[in-house]
Amino acid sequence: MIHSTKMFLLTLLAFASSSQTLPAAEASGSPIRALLVIGGCCHDYLHQKNLLTDGVSARANVQWRIAYDTDETGKRLNPVYRDLNWAKGYDVIVHDECSAEVKNRAEVERVLRPHREGVPAVVLHCAMHSYRTNGWQQGITPWFELTGLQTTSHGPQEPIVVTYLARQHPIIKGLKDWTTIKEEHYNNSAGKLLPSAEALADGEQTYRTRDGKKTTHRYVVAWTNLYQGKTRVFGTTLGHQNATVSAPQHLDLVARGLLWAVDKLDDEYLLPADRVLLDNSSK
Ligand SMILES: [Zn+2]
Repeated sequence: MIHSTKMFLLTLLAFASSSQTLPAAEASGSPIRALLVIGGCCHDYLHQKNLLTDGVSARANVQWRIAYDTDETGKRLNPVYRDLNWAKGYDVIVHDECSAEVKNRAEVERVLRPHREGVPAVVLHCAMHSYRTNGWQQGITPWFELTGLQTTSHGPQEPIVVTYLARQHPIIKGLKDWTTIKEEHYNNSAGKLLPSAEALADGEQTYRTRDGKKTTHRYVVAWTNLYQGKTRVFGTTLGHQNATVSAPQHLDLVARGLLWAVDKLDDEYLLPADRVLLDNSSK
């Protein structure tokens, strides 16, 4: 009797604690299995990996393995890529690495191969400035073919006014225009996306140059790309600061973009995941 009362109390306690953390409605279908490749130069990836995965899984039935590289030089290929079959078992890869100095063609090919074979991708912020193989300042590198955007630099950190363009596109349907905090505005160095890409949002940033002149730049900040005619890619250049990464507007955009990439942008998947990490994964 004592034993069963104790069990009952334990069950009650377990229920009470889980009901505090679990969302009101949970997704019922199989979660999307996502691999987050994150790390490299110039950003607080230690915290951003959690802000991003927690934020997306609060909005969409996505569970993660996080491949976080502590190296901060941007010169090292994320160790996750050592395995030739690194993408096996995942529905989508989220590239949030900042690896500008990884320029070896064979290494870049290793990163691209699964996407060439059809594995969807989400590319975030400094991923766009990664894998700068020969000719990146003028031409279209193999990596730009995946991301869908040639971009070579950014200006000072000032707010970006985000305006959604293709309002009927499922990713941005219902999303409202917004203004970021002081952020990095990535240029569109060719003045346009690649022909395989479609713009979803423009960003406008105004600042004063050193000689006091006001200057305004308007660049695409969110888009989709169809890589090699078949692989869905969603990209946004936003997200330097932790407060931008965790902004609801940014997380809504990324969560919807990710679901679109795996062709599951619907009510069934726009529900919180019952946990953030996949089995056997850790932060
Ligand atoms: Zn940045």
